[in-house]
Amino acid sequence: MRGFAMIEPGKTGFIEKADPKVGERDALVRPLAVAPCTSDIHTVYEDALGPRTNMILGHEACGVVVEVGREVKDFQPGDRVLVPAITPNWSDVYSQAGYATDSDGMLGGWKFSNIKDGVFGTRFHVNDADGNLAHLPDEIDPAEACMLSDMIPTGLHASEMAGVTFGDTVAVIGIGPVGLMALRGAVLHGAGRVFAVGSREKTVEVAKAYGATDIIDYHNGGIAEQILAATDGQGVDKVLIAGGDAEHTFEEAVKMLKAGGSIGNVNYLNGHDNVVFNAGDWGVGMGHKTIHGGLMPGGRLRMEKLASLVVNGRIDPSLLITHRFEGFDKIPDAIELMHHKPDDLIKPVVICNDID
Ligand code: NAD
Ligand code: ZN
Repeated sequence: MRGFAMIEPGKTGFIEKADPKVGERDALVRPLAVAPCTSDIHTVYEDALGPRTNMILGHEACGVVVEVGREVKDFQPGDRVLVPAITPNWSDVYSQAGYATDSDGMLGGWKFSNIKDGVFGTRFHVNDADGNLAHLPDEIDPAEACMLSDMIPTGLHASEMAGVTFGDTVAVIGIGPVGLMALRGAVLHGAGRVFAVGSREKTVEVAKAYGATDIIDYHNGGIAEQILAATDGQGVDKVLIAGGDAEHTFEEAVKMLKAGGSIGNVNYLNGHDNVVFNAGDWGVGMGHKTIHGGLMPGGRLRMEKLASLVVNGRIDPSLLITHRFEGFDKIPDAIELMHHKPDDLIKPVVICNDID
């Protein structure tokens, strides 16, 4: 098989490898479409995960099952499948405790393009196929199905962790594809006023389409300052973080948060940084402000439920896809776009119609 890999930090290219071995509960899948993630860029170019060599990248795909292990019950070769970016080990005790993303160690549910080869291969391996794959509904186009791997589940998880509820005032910091889905999640959870913090024309247009009521441009001054001014000094009930960094963004988030409020962070921070915020803004440690941070939950049930949101028109993933490429060999072009992030980019997708 062939795959597009991180050869060493800062260096990518196509490599050849033996097809992965399929265990009794596993599946081998060929991609129908794949999408690069900002996390692939953090991994390759920002040393965010630590060094990896000859590791095939990618964790956003849908595909066709090629082979299954003897114990797989619900999938067979030829089935078209949704593939979550996070594929937990469902027998682990952390899964039993409700933290499947941390099965096999903290963040151990994140296997593709982290601890094993990812989905940018002509074949890729899925552990626990019955627990992690979902059938791809006929109504969902393969390019849009890639948004169900990571963007939709991650964004929605931010609003879930923050506990957005009816009438909440919510601020979403960072309106790339993850933030846009966090925003949509807040709207679906019943938020009232929703501030989208971003500046690019394209993302602002899509934020409004997903239900943002106010746009805050972080180039025009402090985010907290602008949001406090817009809310008569009251601030917001919930903050969803999908952009910014450890050293500045949490300070703004804690400052704009009402007492009793909570933050849902899904931003992938740099492991070398410290998260910084002011104790006074936290009510000198007693302001009942809560920070949650989490990896998107993976697994089959979650995929099936999120697919239902797409099939029934609650989420339109097509608004996220600004660039489409045809052919597996175009993966490097899509990665380069993600790396350089032109202003009109939200998300590129590569249709792999040339692999069999
Ligand atoms: P993105 O780069 O497309 O979007 C982030 C946006 O934040 C950009 O538009 C950027 O301009 C904006 N931004 C930067 N600094 C800002 C600031 N100070 N204030 C407001 N906005 C600011 O990235 P994305 O693909 O939407 O992903 C967002 C983050 O989520 C990334 O760090 C990614 O690695 C991470 N991620 C996490 C998970 C998870 O499971 N937790 C999954 C996927 C992606
Ligand atoms: Zn990702």
